Amino acid sequence: MTIVKTDPELGHKGLSFCYLPVKDQPGVTVNTLKQMGREGMSNGIININNAQIPEHYLIGEWNKGFYYAMEGFNCARTLVAAACIGAAEKALEAGIGYMKERTVFGSPLAKFEGLQFQLAENYIKLESARLLVHKAAWMLDQKRFSHQELNKTAAAAKLAAPNAAFDIIREVMMWHGAYGYTKEAGLERGLRGVMSYIVGAEGAQNIMRLIIAKEMQGKEYST
Ligand SMILES: Cc1cc2nc3c(=O)[nH]c(=O)nc-3n(C[C@H](O)[C@H](O)[C@H](O)COP(=O)(O)OP(=O)(O)OC[C@H]3O[C@@H](n4cnc5c(N)ncnc54)[C@H](O)[C@@H]3O)c2cc1C
Repeated sequence: MTIVKTDPELGHKGLSFCYLPVKDQPGVTVNTLKQMGREGMSNGIININNAQIPEHYLIGEWNKGFYYAMEGFNCARTLVAAACIGAAEKALEAGIGYMKERTVFGSPLAKFEGLQFQLAENYIKLESARLLVHKAAWMLDQKRFSHQELNKTAAAAKLAAPNAAFDIIREVMMWHGAYGYTKEAGLERGLRGVMSYIVGAEGAQNIMRLIIAKEMQGKEYST
């Protein structure tokens, strides 16, 4: 499924949602690109140039594509934010386990105050992001909040959770020392996965910032 320009002069009001076959469709070329993470999902570039498809491939109403896509974004952003919370939580658990097990200079890492401080800070980072994700999910469930409120909260959750998860996994990796840098430790996979949401999946992080600011200031101040 994709969105295509059906009335280019209307901007976002001239987009329609449709089913577009990517195999054996004249005018459509696909280039898959190997990603650094998220194995099992293929990504890439689809070029569409004068492709002709039957009218019944249109999904929903003509020129309403932008609005359909926007409706899905708040759910999708909350969902990926929740996935990042899961990754961060798992990493933190692994970090606590490792700090108790690993002994240096006759003492488990878990007894070092410097690392305890980091653990506490990471806990706060995780729980703060988790609360934002819960708030977004709860607001979506309620079905009584305005689009503006939903947009702002889902964008905040999507901004906070991947960033928090990346910072937490990176620090847990450091608690593991050289072992953290190995594939066996399993932490690098989390880092690569979470990075996809920082880079752009479900919207780039700066776009989340712009959404939050727009909903706070009013759209007359957005560019
Ligand atoms: C793993 C993955 C899966 C994806 N899956 C899909 C999918 O299924 N379907 C789909 O349609 N797309 C998908 N995307 C694409 C995704 O929606 C885009 O990557 C994202 O919207 C960012 O667009 P871009 O990559 O073109 O970056 P650009 O728009 O070129 O942005 C580049 C950089 O500039 C910053 N930037 C852009 N505009 C502004 C601005 N106005 N102010 C300040 N900074 C700005 C961005 O934050 C970013 O850091 C996927 C991306 C990834 C990484």
